[in-house]
Amino acid sequence: MSEATITQTMTLTIDGATVEVPTGTTLYDAAKQAGTELPVLCHDPKFDPVAVCRMCVVEVEGARVLQAACIRQAEDGMVVHTQSDKVKRSRRTLVELLMSDYPKPAESGSNGHSAVHPYTGKPDLLLELAQREGITAPRFPARPFDNGHDLSSKVIAVNHNACILCDRCIRACDDVQNNEVIGRGGKGYLSRIVFDHDQPMGESTCVSCGECMAACPTGALTDKPLTLTVLDETPLTKVDSLCPYCGVGCSITYSVDAEKNTIVQVAGRDSPVNHGRLCVKGRYGFDYPHHQERLTVPLIRKPEYYPKSVEGLSDLADPRAAFREATWDEALDLAAQRFMAIKQQFGGAALAGFGSAKCSNEDNYLFQKLIRAVFGTNNVDHCTRLCHASSVAALMEQIGGGSVSNPFSDCLETGAMFIIGSNTTHNHPVAATFMKQAAKNGATLIVADPRRPEMADHADYYIRFNPGTDVAFLNGLMHVIIRDELYDADFIEARTEDFDRLRETVQAYTPQVASRLTGIPEQQIIDVAHAYGEADSAMIFWGMGISQHTTGTDNSRCLINLALLTGNIGRPGTGLHPLRGQNNVQGASDVGLIPMVYTGYQSVTEPEVRQKFEASWGVELDREPGLTVVEIMSEVLEGRIKAMYMMGENPFLSDPNINKVKKCLAAMDFLVVQDIFITETAAYADVILPGSSFPEKTGTFTNTDSRVQLARQAIAPPGQARVDWHIIADLATRMGYPMPYESEEQIWREIVSLTPVFGGITYERLEHEGLPWPCPEPDHPGVLIRFTEDFPRGKAKFSPAEYAPAQELPDETYPLVLNTGRVLQHWHTGTMTRRAKALDAIAPEALLEMTPEDMEALGIEPDEFVRVRSRRGELTVKVTRSHKPSQGSVFLPFHFKEAAANLLTIDALDPYGKIPEFKFCAVRVEKLEV
Ligand code: SF4
Repeated sequence: MSEATITQTMTLTIDGATVEVPTGTTLYDAAKQAGTELPVLCHDPKFDPVAVCRMCVVEVEGARVLQAACIRQAEDGMVVHTQSDKVKRSRRTLVELLMSDYPKPAESGSNGHSAVHPYTGKPDLLLELAQREGITAPRFPARPFDNGHDLSSKVIAVNHNACILCDRCIRACDDVQNNEVIGRGGKGYLSRIVFDHDQPMGESTCVSCGECMAACPTGALTDKPLTLTVLDETPLTKVDSLCPYCGVGCSITYSVDAEKNTIVQVAGRDSPVNHGRLCVKGRYGFDYPHHQERLTVPLIRKPEYYPKSVEGLSDLADPRAAFREATWDEALDLAAQRFMAIKQQFGGAALAGFGSAKCSNEDNYLFQKLIRAVFGTNNVDHCTRLCHASSVAALMEQIGGGSVSNPFSDCLETGAMFIIGSNTTHNHPVAATFMKQAAKNGATLIVADPRRPEMADHADYYIRFNPGTDVAFLNGLMHVIIRDELYDADFIEARTEDFDRLRETVQAYTPQVASRLTGIPEQQIIDVAHAYGEADSAMIFWGMGISQHTTGTDNSRCLINLALLTGNIGRPGTGLHPLRGQNNVQGASDVGLIPMVYTGYQSVTEPEVRQKFEASWGVELDREPGLTVVEIMSEVLEGRIKAMYMMGENPFLSDPNINKVKKCLAAMDFLVVQDIFITETAAYADVILPGSSFPEKTGTFTNTDSRVQLARQAIAPPGQARVDWHIIADLATRMGYPMPYESEEQIWREIVSLTPVFGGITYERLEHEGLPWPCPEPDHPGVLIRFTEDFPRGKAKFSPAEYAPAQELPDETYPLVLNTGRVLQHWHTGTMTRRAKALDAIAPEALLEMTPEDMEALGIEPDEFVRVRSRRGELTVKVTRSHKPSQGSVFLPFHFKEAAANLLTIDALDPYGKIPEFKFCAVRVEKLEV
């Protein structure tokens, strides 16, 4: 036997059976392998073992005392007993002791003796053990103190009396979510878990991710009820699906009361994406489909509400009053007739469609097929234009492909992370947990943003720079990297072109010059250049702080230049990762929901490609690329686009310069909106079609890593609402183009048949984990790390960029810079999250972040309402004192229609990506007259 074999496995006896296990295996795992599930309370394989509950003790022959199996490692020749009298006595006594302190079942958050939580079905492991041991009345007296309840959190109830101090919640918060909110306080009987410095949970820095609640084995931490009051005897159905919110694409399991067609709870599901973790939106934002305002029947605008007002239906308490209920036949026939009539009179170019990054690949494929094959135009787009269009433009130009190069979890392999223009803990919270973990493990973390994000608390370097000066900062970094010879000459030589152009451009951006333009101290620029340039491997993550500028493409070009310059692409732990916003913004683009390309980014102007799609779809297709989101709206105002079909988009809140958007919406001859609520945009519709929410459909969704994943229907759409692709297919059929699909899977197979990069992806293969594309063959595992050998365009290209200021700089009249973005609890235009009880309760209103200095200068107190004006509009909003923005800047989230940030933003576009400058415009803040 070789030495390697001796050190790799060992043999021991457990309850008389011989077991062979690898070196380092705990007795807990060895027993499991032998078929014995030892009882545990403090242990969970997700966490490091701490052996505090002693419930898993076993008897090891020759050992003086019982051994905690969760930490005791197996040894060769060991003889172990898991069910000896000594073990059983110990286990029973421990349960009795714990039960003596345990609240009566009715008060413990448990459902009598059935050992499940009455609202959510969460098992109570201590009660289960007590039942197993037959313990009804504990022998020992209860502790003399009441440790109390804490109901201050909007989502989690804390019953300190049911806490057994197993530390699972602490490890979940510290080691999994890396938030470090929970600790222990008090002594003896008064020991208990505490939040921050013993604050009530709801007033602490807890972000309500629920990881602690999921980890708690008793009734100490439980969900507050969101949808049902008390569970009856109906068993809950478990349905594996995905989170409907951000591009991380976390796997979840819905618990559904099938009889009531109601989702009761969401739990994280283990997958390569999220390892079972969730954020507050994924765990608690699930009840919006049950909201009373759901659309359940088709609606047609009443004649008395024509002509449409530019202000929409804002004068009505309930916009429904402007519509009458209709049958599906009436609504779809009307839509089909009007679209056909406009096409016949003005041609297909007078029509356009916005699909949705929240809908499935199958929904969006059919949507763009309808616009192209039936409307006869390429005027089809979606909110990718407002998100990463500039990043994609730069990636296509320099690399030849628009997706990320490495999955975000590769940060656990990297030497350095550079996060710029991304509020990751709020916008991609579960991805952020991996980044915080990587930083804890020793990776250098560089965070750069004009507004200080929470991730800066975990960073080695936090760089605050003047808004809109990203190019100057990044050119300064590259200047130092070249000057100090930190670049990868071999990589540049072998895999890139145009290095000399870059060298020449950044020559002028000395640390002095970059410092003057950006406001960053010179030495910090040099230090960061060295931290990034000297790392063995480095990853760059960016968000809309980079892309949503008129220089968005130049900003992205600089980041790509930086990665190429240092050879940080094509290996594990390196690469470029523009973090995608919506849950399916990647997939919607992949399946052709953009005006220039069909599925798989196949150009509409390539004759061979077009002929392939014409042959498959049986119609002649438009030869010209279509218009983008903001261009379409401008064409409406010009009278060239007459009618639109919008599925799940809400440009009223999401597009820049709302006052202009309102005019466009009111000016349209005919507008069909398909959605789940009457959105601000739907108030301008002629016909409203009730579609399906995320848990009401099956389909594929593609996350920020380009991983295609399968979501399963958990509940039925309410009333007459229909699954989205059914509506699209029905409308197409009524317009004379039959779409006789029978299932989502059939649509997916058609997508695959036209899209080589999806060639190997089938529903069957997606059943459990999902697959990253490209995945061209049936047995191909999919590519997670791209560009290992070459780039889609051959050699990658350096594209140098010169610094240019933002379009609208502050002046005497409008002296402050407005930055817009998201908050943790809400998503996009708030259509879903503002109708999710818990999320709306935690973050009920818009708050304008302002520095204490700027507030003082204007005499503004915290929580005071102010007027914010720009050249395009004005709004009233409450102020919060914050050190996050820099002096001279303010921040406003864009989710809230009562203080719609896009009333203020400018619709100036990046010339390449056509993305608006959401992150920078000049505003004035005024104190309101009392
Ligand atoms: Fe959902 Fe994103 Fe949160 Fe995951 S990180 S639970 S996908 S919102």
